[in-house]
Amino acid sequence: MAKLSIPIFWRVRKHLYTLEGRKCLECGRAHFPPKNSCPYCGSTKLVEYYPPKKGKLLVWTKLYETCDDRSAYRPIYIGLLQLGELRVVLPLTDIHDEGKLKPGIDVELVLRRYIEDGDTGLIYYGLKARPIF
Ligand SMILES: [Zn+2]
Repeated sequence: MAKLSIPIFWRVRKHLYTLEGRKCLECGRAHFPPKNSCPYCGSTKLVEYYPPKKGKLLVWTKLYETCDDRSAYRPIYIGLLQLGELRVVLPLTDIHDEGKLKPGIDVELVLRRYIEDGDTGLIYYGLKARPIF
């Protein structure tokens, strides 16, 4: 997460903490982040969609290089997840044995620290996915 000002963070917090998406009433597909029109069919008939808090890991990768404000958290594991009807990219957490990370394992969403803003003292929390072994 790039540094956000406190007012911007306050406005986007619902999307960050709930993975609020939209589901199209025309084609039935869900998307995230929410948009005012369906990215698949263009319809504006949309309803809120909240994916389940548990899903599957599809693929993952590991980042060794990050921006400086995340250097304390290196390496960072990133996963593509299937959560209900949504595919979402999120950081992975609680990785104690990288050898157990396989496509198809179960994951659950948990709230974890992302970064700390030393200038403001604000600590950013967000959703990460924890493998369920
Ligand atoms: Zn649609």
